[in-house]
Amino acid sequence: MPMNIAIDGPVGAGKSSIADAVAKRLNILHLDTGAMYRALALYVLRSGVDPADEAAVCACSDRAEIAVRYQDGMQHTLLFGEDVSACIRTGEVSQAASTVSKWPAVRRRMVQAQQALAQQSDMLIDGRDIGTVVLADSPCKIFLTATAEERARRRYLQNLEKGDSTPYETVLAELNARDAQDMTRKTDPLRQAEDAVLVDSTNMTPEQVVEAILSIVEAVYGKR
Ligand code: C5P
Repeated sequence: MPMNIAIDGPVGAGKSSIADAVAKRLNILHLDTGAMYRALALYVLRSGVDPADEAAVCACSDRAEIAVRYQDGMQHTLLFGEDVSACIRTGEVSQAASTVSKWPAVRRRMVQAQQALAQQSDMLIDGRDIGTVVLADSPCKIFLTATAEERARRRYLQNLEKGDSTPYETVLAELNARDAQDMTRKTDPLRQAEDAVLVDSTNMTPEQVVEAILSIVEAVYGKR
């Protein structure tokens, strides 16, 4: 049985960066499942399809060739062979990803692909439904969160570093809107699995969060 670790949480909880650091320390791969939904959203937008149009999005999902490759341990997300890892990080794609991910047929395909990857090797997987669906049987689940204000503050500062000066209030409103959509959708909404360990990073440094997660992993798998 491969070593599988599930990390879920809301927007801006630091899942991706923390998961990258933890996976590196454990010398295992990190699968960012949000990138797969984002790649589909990019294809939907490029096709001129409304993300809220279920039938049209599902047709896109059937056609889309989304793949994940690793280079020097880093995930690259491919759409029809094109590396879209950078261009899926816009605000427009974020909101569209949250909308296309509502559709059950989309989720079924993504979950299947993610489970197939998880069977191939030891892996840390982050997303919204990892502990509840994708790795429902994993003995090691973490729910990573922080207050909405703190998550928005971190996202705002990250944006500034990238030259994006979107006001804090806008960042907070977008984050709350996306979380609300992710938590209230009918199929596999974002929620903490009953057997997941809660890590509230509001008052923690990234290093402290990494250490806390490594301790949880050690308690389950005996290695860190
Ligand atoms: O994690 P990230 O913010 O990149 O995910 C983008 C969107 O993809 C989320 O807002 C969510 O709607 C969707 N998603 C999902 N299930 C996952 C991962 C992401 O529904 N496992």
